[in-house]
Amino acid sequence: MKQNIAIIGTGGTIAGKGASDTDLTGYTPGVITVEEIIESVPGVSEYGPFVHYQFANMESSDITMYQWIELAKLVQSVVDREDVGGVVITHGTDTLEETAYFLNLVVHTDKPIVVTGSMRPASAISADGPINLLQSIQVTRHPSSVGKGVLVVLNGTIESAREVTKMNTTNVSTFGSPNTGHMGFVQDGVPHFYSSPVRRHTLHSEFAVADTLPHVPILACYAGIEESVGAAVLNTHPDGLVIMGLGHGTVPKQIRVVTEKAGVPVVRASRTGTGIVSALSTDKGTDYIVSDSLSPQKARILLMVALQKERTKGDLERIFKEY
Ligand code: ASP
Repeated sequence: MKQNIAIIGTGGTIAGKGASDTDLTGYTPGVITVEEIIESVPGVSEYGPFVHYQFANMESSDITMYQWIELAKLVQSVVDREDVGGVVITHGTDTLEETAYFLNLVVHTDKPIVVTGSMRPASAISADGPINLLQSIQVTRHPSSVGKGVLVVLNGTIESAREVTKMNTTNVSTFGSPNTGHMGFVQDGVPHFYSSPVRRHTLHSEFAVADTLPHVPILACYAGIEESVGAAVLNTHPDGLVIMGLGHGTVPKQIRVVTEKAGVPVVRASRTGTGIVSALSTDKGTDYIVSDSLSPQKARILLMVALQKERTKGDLERIFKEY
């Protein structure tokens, strides 16, 4: 029996509609159903059978941690089904990389999970949703995609959940992996992989989905930032903190005075977009650990899932090296 591919709709531009076919920015995301999106894809039946779920129909910038937890539970229950061979999730692109990395850490499976979306609404001239969904299904169906963790497929490229980021506000080629390059390409309906993730994910992750997630805000640094900005963030009583530092994760001294002994784990990350933040001798005796090559928004997710349990600084340092 041929296994199903499960397609889970969450909304975004791929489900969006504008007032006219030339409306590329003023449209409403999350309007058409996942069933309608599947029906709009030429040649898709060749890759069936499918089962589909309408998890939500929303703009991804509005996603809550509660929805992440519910989505992860749904994805886990779907991949646990013997009649399902893999999952494609349609998602708004604004937070797509975050949902993908969260699932990469908490869903246990070696079945392919692909997250996709589009930059142009379904109603637009040259809409990219149908081709992105078709290529995501082709990747999910292919045996070479097994065991590679959560993948992101848009505009003909395959990215790993850990590395991918949205890099352009509106262009269809917005997704890339600036530290490592694309993991592969989809061509002629076939995925071509050129690398595999080396960090722990999915089946080999020690994390699982729990009923709540710790509160971990991101504090963005900039020239001239005032101590009161750091104090205001700490006043939200975080369980952990990520600092979007300058350059090599540098924390301005006004922020250092309120965060280096915050009493909760504090990850130094960088706003530069590429490179590694490595530990410094000045981190000794402080609450600071480093993000490695994770972006601030991904470092936040790793810290959140890690802090579902009590952790020492040493535990967290190990986790940031392994994931
Ligand atoms: N604002 C949309 C969203 O993230 C953008 C998109 O899907 O491209 O839901």
